[in-house]
Amino acid sequence: MTELMVTDVLVVGEGAAGQTAALAASEEGCDVIMLGDGRPPSTAVSTGFLTFAAHDRFDRGQLFEAMSQVTGKGLCDSALLARLLDEAPKVMAEVIAAYGIPVDKVERGLRARRAVNKSGRDLLYGLETEYAKRDTVEDITGLMMEFSSTHGTALYAQLRKAVKASPGIRRLRGSALVLDPGSTMVGALVDSKPVTIIARSIVLATGGLQGLFEFTDNPETLTGDGHGMAMDAGAALVDIEFMQFYPLAVREEGVPTLFLYPDFPKLSTLTNDNGENVLTKHLGEGSQYLSELHNWDQLAAVVQTEIVEGQGVYVDFSETKSTDWAPDSLTGTFLSKCVPTFMSVPVRIAPSSHYTVGGLKVDVDGRTSLPNVYAVGEMAGGVHGANRHGGTALVDAITFGRIAGRHAARNLGGNAAGRNTSLLPPPRKAGRKAQVADLMGNLRRTNQFALGPIRDGARLQSAGERFAEFREEALSFGWNNYTEMQEVLRVQRAILLSDCMRRAMFRRTESRGVHCRSDFPNSSDAWLKKQVVALRDGEFHFDEIAVGRSNARATSHA
Ligand SMILES: Cc1cc2nc3c(=O)[nH]c(=O)nc-3n(C[C@H](O)[C@H](O)[C@H](O)COP(=O)(O)OP(=O)(O)OC[C@H]3O[C@@H](n4cnc5c(N)ncnc54)[C@H](O)[C@@H]3O)c2cc1C
Repeated sequence: MTELMVTDVLVVGEGAAGQTAALAASEEGCDVIMLGDGRPPSTAVSTGFLTFAAHDRFDRGQLFEAMSQVTGKGLCDSALLARLLDEAPKVMAEVIAAYGIPVDKVERGLRARRAVNKSGRDLLYGLETEYAKRDTVEDITGLMMEFSSTHGTALYAQLRKAVKASPGIRRLRGSALVLDPGSTMVGALVDSKPVTIIARSIVLATGGLQGLFEFTDNPETLTGDGHGMAMDAGAALVDIEFMQFYPLAVREEGVPTLFLYPDFPKLSTLTNDNGENVLTKHLGEGSQYLSELHNWDQLAAVVQTEIVEGQGVYVDFSETKSTDWAPDSLTGTFLSKCVPTFMSVPVRIAPSSHYTVGGLKVDVDGRTSLPNVYAVGEMAGGVHGANRHGGTALVDAITFGRIAGRHAARNLGGNAAGRNTSLLPPPRKAGRKAQVADLMGNLRRTNQFALGPIRDGARLQSAGERFAEFREEALSFGWNNYTEMQEVLRVQRAILLSDCMRRAMFRRTESRGVHCRSDFPNSSDAWLKKQVVALRDGEFHFDEIAVGRSNARATSHA
């Protein structure tokens, strides 16, 4: 029996974007359901930089130039970017004041203030008793939260406190799985039971697609539930070929894929199995130490080139002394707990998927191509173009979260009133015993190799053949209950979304921003356009939108 729930605004996902949207909708007087699956959000592990025109030393013009040209490489959606830059100072000031987010001024904006000497667990649960047992954001401990809070944890904890204190927000623990095409109903599992939620506006905020890769510095559970659900309902995605990688994530057996935040000492180097200095090898004699390199996308491509050629790559801290390390260094704290030999034995690393630059196509109010359905935060795309400028993701999530939450509340529509429909697939299906973890592992490895920081046509093509096999396998899976059904649905969508990215990467026969093709190493003016993709009758349909020369100066990819 499917339970029915009714609300004005349904928000799916409880990272920075979802929480801000829920608070904004609730402050407009709406009844809000916030559905969170209890899995860790990127927000809680982020490093809390908030890059926007927050003070005189860093203005809108500088940021526009930096985002649209230096990083976005001419592909930013100029209307979205203008809205973000215009609204961010006001929205961020409101949010920081209203929810008591502690911040410090930094060169390019603000930074959430880290609660030093507190673990993430302390910060999230220390003040709470009511939710501490029920509210399981436990997997975070598998990442970094066990040892140390990050700046992002502090920001997340304040938003969470505000959401919990808001009488207009009902928090439900569960996963949204199906979006009814053409209506504003969602099929979900809430506390493992099937529920249909009828809303008048829906805000999707389920984060990025980084969990589709073998190595990610994000929670690996971010595999695109929201993208898959929206795509199945007919929504369009944009810029989906642009996936940002961080070059230095720990790849040691039994250690979580920790992100080596660059607060390590200056004399840290990068070596390979042959003992070569990888920076000198690829970038010339002038490049010896990691501290000399500021282009992380270029570094990710260098590391991946070594790995694809069969080399292990390592960060070597042996030239550093313990006194060179800042006492509150995030990298130092994590490594001393997880890889205690790190000062003498080089630490194996790999590029980790870090940020999904593309996502659901939205307008300046956060509306997707589906009526009364919004997308915010990392699951929305378009504003960053070919690459994201550092520190702008949280500002994007919070600014558009607030814009979309308000807009959704002021423009309630919806057309599902009174319908009581079970939207989920049936709880049982005959078929092979589902080996979801194995299949997901194979998919992630294929993606890391073929869709990683360096791509070429041949590898992308052979990944397509693998995906066809994966799809067959996933379709043959049966299930015996809703939980198993959810796992099968997730892996099916993970394959679909991987294939969607792959096709977009294959079509873009140039290198631009974080899309790096070794067989097309230069940028091409012919590709000054965005790709928009939607599913129709089970097939991907691509459209191209020219951005015009005024939006972009020709760029060449280093
Ligand atoms: C290590 C690291 C450092 C970073 N540092 C910075 C920084 O300094 N500055 C910056 O601007 N950005 C930074 N970022 C990026 C930034 O943290 C993210 O882009 C941002 O937090 C995304 O917020 P979000 O709300 O869109 O998604 P998330 O915070 O990822 O939240 C999405 C939530 O939705 C849940 N969810 C998924 N599917 C479902 C479903 N079907 N039903 C219900 N819930 C679901 C997920 O489990 C998750 O809890 C960093 C990221 C990482 C990983």
